[in-house]
Amino acid sequence: MRSLPDGQKAALTYTFDDGTVDHYKVCAPMLEEYGFRGTFFVLPGLTAKKPQTIHLPSQLGDHKRMERPVMGWDQIRDLNKRGHEIGNHGWDHMRLWQLTDKRVLKRQIGRSAKVIGWETGTKPDSWCWPYYRPGATELGDALVAEHHKIVRRRHPQLSLGDTMSAKRAAGWVDKARHFGGWWIVVVHILGPDGSKQMHQVEEYILKASLKRAWELRKKVWVCTMRQLAPYLSRPLG
Ligand SMILES: [Zn+2]
Repeated sequence: MRSLPDGQKAALTYTFDDGTVDHYKVCAPMLEEYGFRGTFFVLPGLTAKKPQTIHLPSQLGDHKRMERPVMGWDQIRDLNKRGHEIGNHGWDHMRLWQLTDKRVLKRQIGRSAKVIGWETGTKPDSWCWPYYRPGATELGDALVAEHHKIVRRRHPQLSLGDTMSAKRAAGWVDKARHFGGWWIVVVHILGPDGSKQMHQVEEYILKASLKRAWELRKKVWVCTMRQLAPYLSRPLG
């Protein structure tokens, strides 16, 4: 990694997966309270004109059902306008490592990127594989490289899941400062609502992380993936 803009030792990116309405209503305003911006990974194929509920049971396989309202394009555009980054998470969260059909892969990766660009007026620079799993063929990587500038892979990553304590969430920011490099926080759905869904995170835990990041802002640069891309020697992983 090249030297960061204000001489910080580490970069920290808050990422939000799957485009649920909670990210718009709760997470983005929370980031903004601290002057931060995040990277929001959306699924164009599951994004409606108006907010709606997505059902991803078959795609989530062994995980529990995920039924949450997703953002509409108006909300996604608003996030973009407020300085957050809209990233591409694929057309509709298919298991891309099982796909070898060129047309389907192109729709899942390339068309998805184009639609985000058309709808928001900003081409997505960032890509994140559904289920964190890359495609089975080189075509997948080639399409990702063609349409994006930076990929979220297995960098030090903290999923603020349901077993996480506020103390651990905050302590993890100290770890980033200590070790340096690029660190990523992953947020899926907010809770609690008693459903114990995977990766569920309570608001106060996200808040604890943001608060610590704010305290350490001279040492840790909180940035979007797009902002970080020019500083990475291998942004596509
Ligand atoms: Zn996802």
